[in-house]
Amino acid sequence: MLLQALLFFALVSLAAPLKPFMFNGQTVAPGNKVSTLLHVTAGQDSTVVPVTVFHGRRPGPVLGIIAGVHGYEYPPILAAQQLAREINPAELRGTVLLVHLANVPGFLGRRIQVNPQDEKNLNRVFPGRPDGTITERLAWRLGNDVIGRCTHVIDVHAGDALDDLRPYAGYYNYFDTPELSDTGRQMAVALGFPYVVQFGNEATLKNQAAVYCSREAIKRGIPAVDIECGRFGLPEVEAVIHIKQALHRLLGHLAMAGEQPAPNNPLLIAQRTTVSSSHTGFFYPLVKAGELIHKGRKLGTITDLFGTPLTDVVAPVDGVVLYMTATPPISTGESLLSIGHLPMQGKL
Ligand SMILES: [Zn+2]
Repeated sequence: MLLQALLFFALVSLAAPLKPFMFNGQTVAPGNKVSTLLHVTAGQDSTVVPVTVFHGRRPGPVLGIIAGVHGYEYPPILAAQQLAREINPAELRGTVLLVHLANVPGFLGRRIQVNPQDEKNLNRVFPGRPDGTITERLAWRLGNDVIGRCTHVIDVHAGDALDDLRPYAGYYNYFDTPELSDTGRQMAVALGFPYVVQFGNEATLKNQAAVYCSREAIKRGIPAVDIECGRFGLPEVEAVIHIKQALHRLLGHLAMAGEQPAPNNPLLIAQRTTVSSSHTGFFYPLVKAGELIHKGRKLGTITDLFGTPLTDVVAPVDGVVLYMTATPPISTGESLLSIGHLPMQGKL
């Protein structure tokens, strides 16, 4: 009898249509999509966030895909636009919340890293504040109205206008939440990039603010990953396609659309070393992002404003150049290169 009752309820739940998804005051019926603008206002400043909600007919994860936290990083923004045309809500399992462009003022103002309305970097202010500046309020809305609704989150970035960059995926590893970390690792691996960078690698996130967009998800117990793909802010087709393929792979990995992606065996980077500039002037690099380097190798030269050499930049460790400042201006204390430590470095 009990078995029959269970079977009955199982069949009923399978047959029952999925409930509509409510978002920003709109109703998204199963099998449909809705595009809507989130409005954010702070005094004289205001902005909008374009979001498309895809709500499948069958139950599944709620995946938040966030592009354009940095408005000059074009490949993620262009990939999001293309992906929006390719996700079919009639075939989808679960729901996708696609944030086309989180930082519209930065995008329209062609500004590197910040929102020109308050000069703040959206990826440094999470969880934000409901009564703060425009960027702080924007973070607050993204955290509560988008990230907080998701079961999985991905934040997509590229090298900004000054950065040469080797594409990679990243995830957070905190020791007190091993399941969250492991789900993130599996998502990051599934994206298909040759390198996966591990963020965190410490006991707990509990005593720290989220700060970063994707870490806002981790703070809420939601698995989250990052993509970095593209360089110099250029809208290069290869980077756009690379990101889009990675997002399709993630949809497959989460069994939301398509097929399980082919296995991927990336190199795990658990530690990074940042090389900062000791002077202000010009940086003349001798390497490119993606190059494997040995400790002691000359990576470039810094000159004063006349072009007179001041110092050589030398690799402090073996590894791979993940990203680097590759345009001439450099100020004391700014990051020149981020070097990822590779497993089995002695064999490079
Ligand atoms: Zn970015």
